[in-house]
Amino acid sequence: MTVKEALEKRGVKSFDRIVAAKVDGIPRDLGSDLAEEAEIEPIYVDSGEGLEILRHSTSHVMAMAVRELFPGVKVTIGPAIEDGFYYDFDFERPFREEDLPAIEEKMKEIVRENLPFERKELSSQEAMDYFQEQGEDYKVELIRDLGEENVSLYTHGSFTDLCRGPHLPSTGRIKAFHLIKVAGAYWRGDEKRPMLSRIYGVAFSDRKTMKSHLQKLEEAKKRNHAKLGPQLGLFSTHEEIGAGMIVWHPKGMMLRYLLEDFEIKEHLRRGYELVRGPELLKTELWKKSGHFENYRENMYFTTIDEQSYGIKPMNCLSHMFIFGSKLRSYRDLPKRYFELGTVHRHERSGVLQGLLRVREFTQDDAHLICAPDQLNGEIKDLLDFVHDMMNVFNFDYELEVSTRPEKSIGSDEDWEVATRALIEAMDETGLPYEINEGDGAFYGPKIDVKLNDALGRKWQCGTIQCDFTLPERFNLVYIGKDGQKHRPAMLHRTILGAIERFIGILIEHYAGAFPVWLAPVQATILTVTDRNTPFAESLFEELKKAGIRVKADLRNEKLGLKVREAQLQKIPYMLIIGDKESEKGGLTPRQRNGENLPFMTADEFIGTIDKDCRQRR
Ligand SMILES: [Zn+2]
Ligand SMILES: [Zn+2]
Repeated sequence: MTVKEALEKRGVKSFDRIVAAKVDGIPRDLGSDLAEEAEIEPIYVDSGEGLEILRHSTSHVMAMAVRELFPGVKVTIGPAIEDGFYYDFDFERPFREEDLPAIEEKMKEIVRENLPFERKELSSQEAMDYFQEQGEDYKVELIRDLGEENVSLYTHGSFTDLCRGPHLPSTGRIKAFHLIKVAGAYWRGDEKRPMLSRIYGVAFSDRKTMKSHLQKLEEAKKRNHAKLGPQLGLFSTHEEIGAGMIVWHPKGMMLRYLLEDFEIKEHLRRGYELVRGPELLKTELWKKSGHFENYRENMYFTTIDEQSYGIKPMNCLSHMFIFGSKLRSYRDLPKRYFELGTVHRHERSGVLQGLLRVREFTQDDAHLICAPDQLNGEIKDLLDFVHDMMNVFNFDYELEVSTRPEKSIGSDEDWEVATRALIEAMDETGLPYEINEGDGAFYGPKIDVKLNDALGRKWQCGTIQCDFTLPERFNLVYIGKDGQKHRPAMLHRTILGAIERFIGILIEHYAGAFPVWLAPVQATILTVTDRNTPFAESLFEELKKAGIRVKADLRNEKLGLKVREAQLQKIPYMLIIGDKESEKGGLTPRQRNGENLPFMTADEFIGTIDKDCRQRR
């Protein structure tokens, strides 16, 4: 009896929305054989698992289409991903966006033919021989590395792929898909292996959902910070300087300064102290902290006077020296050390992405060193802090608790206490959270803050990490009420995370139209004719003196052109100075949305901007 027959026996009449089934908890094809007495549960196409099967099956269809259109191409792997799928190909030239329509057409043909997906089990040797004959070296390598006795192959029409399954019953079940882009990707993510050509597609259970998803993608493309950032004069990157290294231009640096200044003030009023440690610390110290053992592959090292140094990938160590620099009493606790700490981490070149994944970045990092019984209160304060900061930028967010990873240091008991401290604080605040098993830092469990931007995309930013191990390794102590030495606990935490990444997210969140308090240029003065220049110049000086970030465009150009340029720069206020303004000695601010404020004096305008900034608008 097949899985499908078993479901029919159990009263299932329509398979329109059923794509596979879970047999004793394991997803299987509808056509697979079923042992008697198995627990069986249908998988619907619009469920998480159903969509994954749909998307992955669509990747098989794409691989077949590519093989038919591009003889000689080699196939590698094609998993489902969020919203869609990809497949990596090895071809004599990289695929281009222009190739996509033809591939999509071919895929539609394959879908129309409604070819069944058929599963076959073979010995690994037979399967390797089969793929060898087809010239599919990557498949041979995959089977060899799997090291299984048997493997399963899936065939639809002329195309056979190595795959665990399950798949849709047939290609006709694919209702809505679209190929969206191509990219390079190293075979197995290894830059020493061949560069493959990756084709990405999206697939959904119906056309309507796909359409709204594609619209969102279109909007995201317009907001892409890697394009908008340079257009707005914020930053640039240069092959000659190095991958993952950001050059901040005046407007970007102004934005960054405003954000950092805001953060420093927010920290100071919450009882943090500003500190700073060096970029280079002896490798011996990284050995003592456990970073060398657990984090070395992400670090850079250099030698000075025959002594090895590590460039800091985290800011923790100096902060512990500050705490340890004198004997502390329980009355001094907690200590909250804040540093806008620049760190360097070796990210693989394949994952570098605009401001989002870089090799040099600055964290809004702090270390809170406290008595273990203060942990709960500190964590709750931190959750409040996160909440306030996310509100300023209108971000919704979600919280995730990550527990002990495989590669970790510290005793079971400390992990237990630390994990409980985080979870209890979360429970007491009543905030919803999810648990991420095994995803903690190597020295302790953590709470991750994932924010949702204006397009509903999730970004990981802040993190709160609980740590008993580093205070132990660095022998931090404080004198308790009992006059004895005690070991403090430590929280590592960031609120916005990496400033670079956060600015990347902000650019996309606001589509480059920053609120007045963050806008690198708040107002621009545009003259209608040269007659208006003297008044425009005096206005410019007045606003500048009042601390307004103002620019003036006094060129003898058409007003329409100047307005368009200011609009492209997304400046919050345009001050157009014509004869009326010059004569009356005032201005009519035009807002970014095209609406004019009433005619006002320069003083009144300064008051308007001040009010915007105070309200963080
Ligand atoms: Zn498959
Ligand atoms: Zn730290």
